[in-house]
Amino acid sequence: MSEHVNKYTEYEARTKAIETLLFERGIVTPTAVDRIVSYYENDVGPMGGAKIVAKAWTDPDYAEWLKKDATAAMADMGYAGEQAHQIQAVFNDKDTHHVVVCTLCSCYPWPVLGLPPAWYKSMEYRSRVVADPRAVLKSDFGFEVPDDTEVRVWDSSSEIRYIVIPEQPKGTEAWDAEALTKLVSRDSMIGVADALKPNEVVA
Ligand code: FE
Repeated sequence: MSEHVNKYTEYEARTKAIETLLFERGIVTPTAVDRIVSYYENDVGPMGGAKIVAKAWTDPDYAEWLKKDATAAMADMGYAGEQAHQIQAVFNDKDTHHVVVCTLCSCYPWPVLGLPPAWYKSMEYRSRVVADPRAVLKSDFGFEVPDDTEVRVWDSSSEIRYIVIPEQPKGTEAWDAEALTKLVSRDSMIGVADALKPNEVVA
């Protein structure tokens, strides 16, 4: 008796099937797909988002613009395009901590954060973070939000994506924007962490 072992999940199998058909019918080429994946893996990453956060920390006018129209403010710094047609920046402060998810799939602001991490796409994170964000931040990310800080969850979609602007760590008021970018992790812009403290930066 032979046992059939399917190494793909239902969605992976479906994706593979669609990909194969697109290749076979010449609608897209494997090289084009590889090029796009490599571009977002290697050339685009959270460094773009970090630059935007550091600019917002050091330039109040820019922060104001980012609050009102993040899509335009980011495009002004050269971050625009696919998966970023409309972006909203949500600012953390002592009263509110923001967290981003896509409950439906994995919508994410690629031009400023690169490709989403695996956990962001997992059913686990997507279903639990909306139900009890405070608990998920603590159990999955070791991140405790103070009791008197409200946690707000933002559900991304193909229409609108979000970037969290973390609070600037204390003691970095005199730092320039370039130095500040080192404090801005990918996770802090998804809202599952704070920005790094000066003593947490690896030189
Ligand atoms: Fe999505």
